[in-house]
Amino acid sequence: MADYYDLLGVDRSATADEIKKAYRRRARELHPDANPDDPAAEERFKELATAYQVLSDDQQRARYDRFGEAGVAGAGGGAGAEDLFGSGLGDIFDAFFGGGSGFGGGGRRGPTGPPRGQDMEVVIDLDFDQAVFGAEVPVTLKLPQRCDDCSGTGAGEGTKPVTCVDCNGTGQVRRVRQSVLGQMVTTAPCGRCGGIGEVIATPCQTCRGDGRVTLDKTYQVDVPAGVDTGATLRLTQRGAAGPRGGSAGDLYVHIRVAPHARYERDGIDLVTRVPVSIAQAALGTRLDLPTLDGDEELSIPAGTQPGHEFVLRQRGVPRLQGRGRGDLRVVVDVIVPTNLTDAETELLQRFAEGRSEEVGSSGGGLFSRIRSAFS
Ligand SMILES: [Zn+2]
Ligand SMILES: [Zn+2]
Repeated sequence: MADYYDLLGVDRSATADEIKKAYRRRARELHPDANPDDPAAEERFKELATAYQVLSDDQQRARYDRFGEAGVAGAGGGAGAEDLFGSGLGDIFDAFFGGGSGFGGGGRRGPTGPPRGQDMEVVIDLDFDQAVFGAEVPVTLKLPQRCDDCSGTGAGEGTKPVTCVDCNGTGQVRRVRQSVLGQMVTTAPCGRCGGIGEVIATPCQTCRGDGRVTLDKTYQVDVPAGVDTGATLRLTQRGAAGPRGGSAGDLYVHIRVAPHARYERDGIDLVTRVPVSIAQAALGTRLDLPTLDGDEELSIPAGTQPGHEFVLRQRGVPRLQGRGRGDLRVVVDVIVPTNLTDAETELLQRFAEGRSEEVGSSGGGLFSRIRSAFS
């Protein structure tokens, strides 16, 4: 590793203040965020940090001056360097420059900032048709929302949140301790402001300083065609507002679909059953079939068997977030009449005789009538 003084760009007689200033300047130049295309930047930045740790500590600097890198063994070792920074480069850099002044952070106030609001859940009930074809459905729920009286800051009328004195608005407090490896810098969320970086002297009376009020909120939920019971829609940032202006959580909308009197769903297919009489099944007929798209004429050919399935292509459920639709499957139920008139009974008996079929039973009908005639 290069000479520590050279790394910082100071001469050996530099004062502690000059070393500190030199480190700030060099750290800005070498910070990996400022050199995204240079893979060696992170390594150079770590070396710089090691050099600063040694030279900013009087005892270690004295040992380095006398014995070189061997005198501060550990501090300069590649393996040890990572540990010195606590959870990484960000910590030491934020501690030194006060968080928001770092690179890439823009207006970032502190490493934690106000907490994000909670995710919320709600169940909506849909009609069968709404689920199949999609719908705009209003949903109302109790929701923590931004307090209008303080614009979410939590500060009382005419006042503003003030910068936290414990953390200088960074939301983080820096702890420096000595260890066998030298000076260790770690950061932790500020206890006074809870990591937000600001404290409220006079809380807003409406929200008591929380920046939120819980009220009924109605959203129009755009339900896509093809959903079914068990589907969940996520509405990003429609959940609870975060306290003190924090971003909102998400809203999860769980779908529950009411059953239909005539239709069942089988994936993206619809299944329905149509009753036909034995005469219709035997001789064929035409039926008006009510579908979700309106009435359709269904032709039942002669000789249709019970349980036969007719398939109407593309009359089922639209594929969720895809193209095309499933099919409508129409299952035939052949209904056997139970309330025959005498004339109908006779017709059926003649029909059976013509086909040499035995009909009737001991409870009534032809055979029992023949028996009673002989008794
Ligand atoms: Zn604070
Ligand atoms: Zn308020």
